[in-house]
Amino acid sequence: MPTWTRSFVLALKTIIFGILWGIVGIVIIVIGLLLPMMTNPQYYMNNPNAIVGLMFGSLIFVIIGSVIAALGFYASLIKFTIEETIKELTGIPQYTPPPVRPAPPPPPTVAPAKPIVKTEVAVLQYCPDCGARLPPGAIFCPNCGKKLEKS
Ligand SMILES: [Zn+2]
Repeated sequence: MPTWTRSFVLALKTIIFGILWGIVGIVIIVIGLLLPMMTNPQYYMNNPNAIVGLMFGSLIFVIIGSVIAALGFYASLIKFTIEETIKELTGIPQYTPPPVRPAPPPPPTVAPAKPIVKTEVAVLQYCPDCGARLPPGAIFCPNCGKKLEKS
């Protein structure tokens, strides 16, 4: 819950930034009013009535400046309110994501049996001719010398 202190800090920030935006708006208004005078001061000196026209001519600057000042104030309010809200929400324990538990190690997978390339040889445990036990992968019987591979 926002405390009063934080609310006042928020309000203060909003006002300060609102004033800053107001200054920006006023600067734009003043520029709009002064720019034509600066470019042709003699004309406005000699024709005071033209200043009225100048006011209307620079109305767009007045509007832009006012809009920026107003929008800036509300933008500041929204910005700080949202920032504070996010801070509040992230401060509440239930909103913090639970610590990610390390995934349990996957069960050891049984290594796939190596593909037997020479099936006939591997299958032959004993020599079909003499019956001697054969070492795995043997091509010739070590006892009788018979070629074991089917050809
Ligand atoms: Zn043999």
